[in-house]
Amino acid sequence: MSLINDIIEKVAPPSKSQMVTCKKCNHEDSMYALFKNDCVCPNCGFHFRLTARERIDLTTDKRSFHELDTGLTSKDFLSFPSYQEKLEKAQASTKEEDAVVTGIASIGGHAVALFVMNSKFIMASMGSVVGEKITRLFEYATEHRLPVVGFTASGGARMQEGIISLMQMAKISGAVKAHSNAGLLYITVLTDPTTGGVTASFAMQGDIILAEPRALVGFAGRRVVEQTTKSQLPDNFQSAEFLLAHGFVDAIVPRGELRDTLIELLDIHKHA
Ligand SMILES: [Zn+2]
Repeated sequence: MSLINDIIEKVAPPSKSQMVTCKKCNHEDSMYALFKNDCVCPNCGFHFRLTARERIDLTTDKRSFHELDTGLTSKDFLSFPSYQEKLEKAQASTKEEDAVVTGIASIGGHAVALFVMNSKFIMASMGSVVGEKITRLFEYATEHRLPVVGFTASGGARMQEGIISLMQMAKISGAVKAHSNAGLLYITVLTDPTTGGVTASFAMQGDIILAEPRALVGFAGRRVVEQTTKSQLPDNFQSAEFLLAHGFVDAIVPRGELRDTLIELLDIHKHA
């Protein structure tokens, strides 16, 4: 598994002597211990964010992942100020082409089509490449009769691509629907943070919707909702737990149990 960028951005590689402080409870532990605990704080259970590759390593059977649709990169077709620079910076720091990685893999021996969004890449905002790659993945899965497992994370639509980014919601949703019409299973796992147009489309279109503990999941930001509705919102508003209580999420699954849960669900649906 590669390094956990969120907590060790300036340090490498993980070692027993390097210490990490939990953002939530200030618990100090060695990077190695945290790494061994799937990047979940052993004291308070805070789930550190993972990159797409780290997530793939944690979830799929060893050496089973085969990436699809590489070589797609976003264009600055609106000449949006600083966008090209931002893209290049994100590509250099993440070593990824854009904010989602797609491919096929096996999970507990079950063949799946997999997409994993990467919040390290411009907060996994959804632009034309994200939309195209996820759409192609659903089309591939429909053609090959594969279930889709998708890990969502996003700050929302990529404003630097204007209306084109919003159109991805409809495009992906169409491919999700065709996959569903073929009687195939789609499982989403909402990770921190899943917001904006991603929540308003394919993140919430799963047949089964799982979430990681305390993940932020919402559409508009808290302040916008408060100002628009002129109401006081509860503290846990837009948390995975709040969504579970209100029927938008089927289960909250701690990271350490996620792979086994996916295997169980895939097993139950294997003849679908
Ligand atoms: Zn903690």
